Amino acid sequence: MINLDFTFAVAGYSVIFLSIIFILWLTGKKLKDKDLLLDDKFLWYCWVCTYTYISTKEEPISRCPRCGSYNKKTLT
Ligand SMILES: [Zn+2]
Repeated sequence: MINLDFTFAVAGYSVIFLSIIFILWLTGKKLKDKDLLLDDKFLWYCWVCTYTYISTKEEPISRCPRCGSYNKKTLT
């Protein structure tokens, strides 16, 4: 009887431990996705010279630093 209780206790602890790891992994992944989305928001692609650049200004039109042409943010 004591042996059975011990097995249940170990199983319970294992489930709790794995759940915590799983939750931490999920929240970590979510934060990473959020960061990637934030980066994508400021990522610009020039259609004239195919240059990819980062502009932190939240403007609908950005100027390419390489060729100087204006680019409109494409909605994805
Ligand atoms: Zn350009």
